[in-house]
Amino acid sequence: MSKIVVKFGGSNLKTKSDLKKILKVVESYKKPLVIVVSAFYGITDFLSSKISGSLETKEAIENIVSEMKKHNREIVGENITDLAYAQKTLMELDGIVNQLEKFLLGVHYIGEVPEFLEDQILSFGEKISSILLHNLLESKGLKAELVFPEDLPLITDGEFGNASVDFEACELKIKSRLSGNKIYVIPGFYGVSPSGKTTLLGKGGSDYSAASIARCIEADYLDIWKDVNGFMTADPKLVEKPRRLDKITYAEAAELAYFGAKILHPRTVEPLMEAHIPVRIFNINGTLDHTKPVSWVNSEEVVLDGVVKSVTYSDEFCIVKLKGPGVGLKPGVLAKVAGKLSEKKININSVITSQIAINLLLHKKDKNAALQVLKKLGLHTVTDVQAIDDVSVIAIVGQGMLDNYGIAARIFTAAARVGINIKISSTGASQVVSYIVVDRENRNNAVREIHNEFFTNN
Ligand code: ASP
Ligand code: MG
Repeated sequence: MSKIVVKFGGSNLKTKSDLKKILKVVESYKKPLVIVVSAFYGITDFLSSKISGSLETKEAIENIVSEMKKHNREIVGENITDLAYAQKTLMELDGIVNQLEKFLLGVHYIGEVPEFLEDQILSFGEKISSILLHNLLESKGLKAELVFPEDLPLITDGEFGNASVDFEACELKIKSRLSGNKIYVIPGFYGVSPSGKTTLLGKGGSDYSAASIARCIEADYLDIWKDVNGFMTADPKLVEKPRRLDKITYAEAAELAYFGAKILHPRTVEPLMEAHIPVRIFNINGTLDHTKPVSWVNSEEVVLDGVVKSVTYSDEFCIVKLKGPGVGLKPGVLAKVAGKLSEKKININSVITSQIAINLLLHKKDKNAALQVLKKLGLHTVTDVQAIDDVSVIAIVGQGMLDNYGIAARIFTAAARVGINIKISSTGASQVVSYIVVDRENRNNAVREIHNEFFTNN
């Protein structure tokens, strides 16, 4: 049976009564669905921030457990009116929080936080929200089944914290597991390693869970519900009257997400592109009509006259510079740099080199670890390693970037018009994106002026 995968994220789970809106949406589809759900807003970060406290005292663990149970009781009280269902839900939730407590105690007794326990602990936000949603649906008479990723099983490559789904290992099993004529509720954000260990799919990874499941069941659509109006030409907080983007391509969505747009996780489109499964984005604060998405992502390439579709930014990156008179010409320097960083699981987001400098665009969180390994490279060609982290990356995205002249010139002219110096720029890495790096203090002006250049003046 053809199905739609529907994903509700933390942005749909901010207040205690948000589950009511989700219920309305689910009811409006009037058909069996596969629902993937994230944790309540802030719960994953809450758990993450409390792990170190669990190392120190058991009291810290008791506090986490009682806070989680209190939160659960409040949400059940607000949403599940049928008494018997409310009791059943609370029992299931208490059971799951007791499991969480055991893992926290594990951390306490071991005296450190092994990766496998960290992934286990952080997966509980999604377990809780899926139990809540499943019981809510059943209490309203909908036929629903709760399935945990370990029971699908959603098998990954086993990398803790940032796993990838192994489709060959699980695609067929998942398709047959989810073939019933009912609603399935599945917690997002994690899968299991080949040996059955919980592995997270990366920060914000429930979108990727949902996309992976959509691919496995050959879904008609992946519907992602948000609390904003989908993809825009720029962040409405920065730019006056940005336009909404009805349609963008997988590649454009991926680049926008990679460079900071918060609508989708950057990996969402990966499992969908080959299978041509469209992503439809909906605003839960708009009309609850599942036939009217605010943005639509698929493979249909549309080149606009002005080429550019959106200007986004990220403050999450830093530049690490390796200087030395011959770093550009000497073979093997980049290989060594990349090798050392990858040993530390540090991802290089972009590289620009010249004869006397290698510039790496890295995530800020990796800055110190990167500096540490790169300062010990032992290459006499590298005379200095520096990091610049007070920067923002501004990405200008649109199909046709490489085939049309004058785009880079307009970006540079716009920045120059407001006196902004561009520290690094890159065009040509993909068909759809150019980016510049500017001082953080210039970020807002740069976004506004570049957006003006492409959307207002013309
Ligand atoms: N709850 C997870 C996180 O905060 C996954 C998600 O929201 O998609 O990263
Ligand atoms: Mg999310």
